Amino acid sequence: MKTVVVTGGSRGIGKAVVEILARKGYAVLLNYHTSEKEAKEIQRHLREEGCFVEIYKADVSQKKEVKEMMEFARNKMGSIDILINNAGISQIKTFADLTEEDWDKMMQVNLKSMYLTTKEILSDMLQKQEGTIINISSIWGVIGASCEVHYATAKAGVIGFTKALAKELGPSHIRVNAIAPGMIQTDMNANIGKEDIEKIKQEIPLECIGKPKDIAKCIEWLVEDQYTTGQVISIDGGWGIA
Ligand code: NAP
Repeated sequence: MKTVVVTGGSRGIGKAVVEILARKGYAVLLNYHTSEKEAKEIQRHLREEGCFVEIYKADVSQKKEVKEMMEFARNKMGSIDILINNAGISQIKTFADLTEEDWDKMMQVNLKSMYLTTKEILSDMLQKQEGTIINISSIWGVIGASCEVHYATAKAGVIGFTKALAKELGPSHIRVNAIAPGMIQTDMNANIGKEDIEKIKQEIPLECIGKPKDIAKCIEWLVEDQYTTGQVISIDGGWGIA
């Protein structure tokens, strides 16, 4: 049974990824930070379906917590075959209003976390000379976003991290890819009003907001594909080309 760690698996996109991969027969470690009730509920309903799901509370921006989480994962499931770096936060603020704390937190949760998790599991993949890492970036990391400079910067960093690591790890048969979602219907966008959502839909060629499952389906494909690496796959209804 192949093993997967999904960061930020308690809600939104991460939850859909946990569900799709667990139902496909992977052994999944669902990482959460604050949403314990949600994580337990996902574990409960997937176990009822016969899936293998462990849950673990850790702040992915904290080295010690990430290290302990990966030790837990190895003890429960064996070495890690697949890492999905999904956990993330967003914040809307003008650059003028951004504080140093805002900036540092954004970098730590959305970018440094990928360094920490990848460092912890890489020896497993190098030993087996195979593995897959999928990092969640954003449309804003590709084309930039007003009033989200720190978010867009971190997500652009995710793309640089992905491409550089893909080149370095290719000879070890470890594939590293990124996904750049457009607007996906999750809690992250819950504070955007109905009117604004309608306006955004008009900017998107496919005229609709994406669903977490749209991203999860691509991840399901990417973990099984053998010849894709260093790519940034935009799943955004065409918003990025509009
Ligand atoms: P969401 O519904 O707000 O869920 C965020 C997830 O990240 C939650 O499971 C949360 O865990 C976890 N998380 C946040 N901070 C964490 C930390 N310090 N340590 C561990 N876990 C942490 O967001 P989403 O929309 O599913 O977003 C998932 C990823 O997609 C993010 O990287 C986001 O930037 C990216 N993305 C989203 C969109 C979109 O439109 N939704 C678009 C582009 C990119 P707890 O709830 O347990 O705290």
